[in-house]
Amino acid sequence: MSSATNGILGLVPPGVVTGDDLVTLLRYARDNNFAIPAVNCTSSTTVNAVLEAAKECRSPVMIQFSNGGCTFLAGKGISNKDQKAGIAGAVAGAYHVRAMAKYYGVPVVLHSDHCAKKLLPWFEGMIQADEEYFKLHGEPLYSSHMLDLSEEPMEENVAICKRYLKRMAKINCLLEMELGITGGEEDGVDNTSVDNASLYTQPEEIWYVYKELSSISHRFTIAASFGNVHGVYRPGNVKLEPNILANAQKYIREKIGCPEEKPVFFVFHGGSGSSKSEIKEAIRNGVVKMNIDTDTQWAYWDGVRTFVAKNHDYMQAQIGNPKGADKPNKKFYDPRKWLRNAEKSLSARVKEAFIDLETVGRLGENVSLKITSKL
Ligand SMILES: [Zn+2]
Repeated sequence: MSSATNGILGLVPPGVVTGDDLVTLLRYARDNNFAIPAVNCTSSTTVNAVLEAAKECRSPVMIQFSNGGCTFLAGKGISNKDQKAGIAGAVAGAYHVRAMAKYYGVPVVLHSDHCAKKLLPWFEGMIQADEEYFKLHGEPLYSSHMLDLSEEPMEENVAICKRYLKRMAKINCLLEMELGITGGEEDGVDNTSVDNASLYTQPEEIWYVYKELSSISHRFTIAASFGNVHGVYRPGNVKLEPNILANAQKYIREKIGCPEEKPVFFVFHGGSGSSKSEIKEAIRNGVVKMNIDTDTQWAYWDGVRTFVAKNHDYMQAQIGNPKGADKPNKKFYDPRKWLRNAEKSLSARVKEAFIDLETVGRLGENVSLKITSKL
């Protein structure tokens, strides 16, 4: 395949990718055994740090905003009644990514993270924004959105996913859904006390979802549980079983008589703390996206922490430091100084993810940047 030698930029353009380009990107990842890191962002500075890492690693990347991330982007000083701040923040974050991504020369998947049933008004608002954007530009504002109805009975989970996927199919937007139970706690869904057996999705369940969603659109991904846990916990509590994904691929392949070895695009949630070999096995079994949040939150903070520790005596007052009582400290407390250290630290952690998920250099040879304005 010629695209394999040219790399991703021979297939899709830099900037936010949607629709067919997004599916092309996911297929390329699946067929070449790598997964794209999806990093949760909460501000323009976290977005930029992630884009910077992707540029340096010549890798595609996913930027995702959670509901909490969106209300933070909107500013905590306004009301979130009826999810108004969540929706406005989602739009603001998307516009920042859209404005900047192409200048970094990397394809970016713009995604919204976990949306439980009680947050559906947020989802509804984002889809409306996608539909409005589609009218103007022929593509949705976001590449994809995630619905997490895994707390609901499976039939209801799938029925609601189908309802939204019908709408999303019209604007070429992709749906990520969650099946089974991911342990731990994420955005208000607490599964810390769930018994172990339900942490593993059955092939029949994945087939049911695949069959139902495929009847509407091929643009969907599945976050199935194979022992993964949200957040960082003591290792060894739950055993990761990536072979569950391989079994499901085989089961579905036989059901549909599909020529593709891995018909399902899987997403890996709760991967913090997983071993590199477990991650690689999950990728071999069709994981094309892996969420990263907890570790990058720490990395961002760690950048501030180390900056303050190193420059402590220069950060206690606006004027006055070990060099003299009248010496100004502006070049230490200026947010651009300590936040830049946070960005560098976050960027370094994201680079590790690119290495673990084997995305480094996947863009192929340097292709000159062609930037088109589409806001
Ligand atoms: Zn999840």
